[in-house]
Amino acid sequence: MVDLGFGMMRLPLLDENDVTSIDIEQVKKMVDVYMESGFNHFDTAFVYHEGVGEKTFKECVVDRYPRESFKIATKLPLFVITEESQLEPIFAQQLENCGVDYIDYYMLHNVSGFTENAWKNVDLYSFIQKKKEEGFIKHIGISTHGNAEFLEEILFDHPELEFVLLQINYLDWEDENIESKKCLEVAKKYGKEVMIMEPFKGGFLTDVPEEAEKLMKDYNPDAPVASWAMRFVAGLEGASVTLTGASSLEQLKENIESFKNFTPLNDEELEIIYEVSDIINSNITVDCTKCRYCVDACTEEINIAKIFDLYNKEKIVNKKGESWTQFGNAYLNYSKLPDVGLASDCIGCENCIEECPQQINIPEVLKEVAETFETEGYGFTD
Ligand code: SF4
Ligand code: SF4
Repeated sequence: MVDLGFGMMRLPLLDENDVTSIDIEQVKKMVDVYMESGFNHFDTAFVYHEGVGEKTFKECVVDRYPRESFKIATKLPLFVITEESQLEPIFAQQLENCGVDYIDYYMLHNVSGFTENAWKNVDLYSFIQKKKEEGFIKHIGISTHGNAEFLEEILFDHPELEFVLLQINYLDWEDENIESKKCLEVAKKYGKEVMIMEPFKGGFLTDVPEEAEKLMKDYNPDAPVASWAMRFVAGLEGASVTLTGASSLEQLKENIESFKNFTPLNDEELEIIYEVSDIINSNITVDCTKCRYCVDACTEEINIAKIFDLYNKEKIVNKKGESWTQFGNAYLNYSKLPDVGLASDCIGCENCIEECPQQINIPEVLKEVAETFETEGYGFTD
């Protein structure tokens, strides 16, 4: 059976508009509950929470538990790498951030089209192999949002890789861009260990449209919506770990429950999942998983991930074109924060597009967002 990993990408915040304001006390409680439940695999990255993710891992795990009691996975930030001389200092910084002498699972972060400047121009694979030989890394791998053909090329060229972290969930299973199912098959064909990210697709699968939730609740009133997504990935053959990106203690406890009482989805339940996928797909306006890679690239300080989240929710709840909704109101509140960019502040530079693993045409969607939210009805007067 697949193990449950603690993904530290979307930790609880004290201020929802500041991703560095991690609620450390809550994370410590989450870590304790997770460890007490018999799990021990943590996953972070240099770039998570704008650079404080690895330090949070140190504070909440390394400083409180013996080294041999947990495993840590972290990632080399390909987004910022242009030359070889950067590799040693960044890696040394990561060991210091995490407070460890070695990393259990070290990945090239998001090998894909938009990080090709790094992996085409710098010999990253030799670097991680060297670090492994020096004893600073136990296992080397990659994370990628690329499709199956792209993955196959990498695995063919780099037999030294031991594992891959892939985006797998029931919504992306047959998706023609993500190709979760095909990617899993490719990884298995090359004999690689597979770890799973985005089992809830950035929260889409925990907060499904009413119609979809009804299908699930009619079949099993006691099963939380998220448990269906968790059971889907927990039952996949060939995967070793699935990361829960829980943002609260409550969510984490729910995920742990789903895992402890795991039973594979039966044929009837799989049918329901496919129906639910159709409903969700017909409701999602922007396929954004809130990874925030684009946000760092935006010179106009536009919190694209947050804005798209509000826009998606608005589109789901406001089918009748109501003149006021809580999401429009939340957008108005966001607009009043200091130093934030609005959708209409987008200058169309397109820097963000190549950062997006979901291949969203961000400036185009931002235009639609501005037309929806930045109107008189929602309190915008300009
Ligand atoms: S296209 Fe718009 S959203 Fe994208 S980086 Fe440029 S200003 Fe920011
Ligand atoms: S728009 Fe793309 S890059 Fe930006 S947060 Fe969403 S999925 Fe991530």
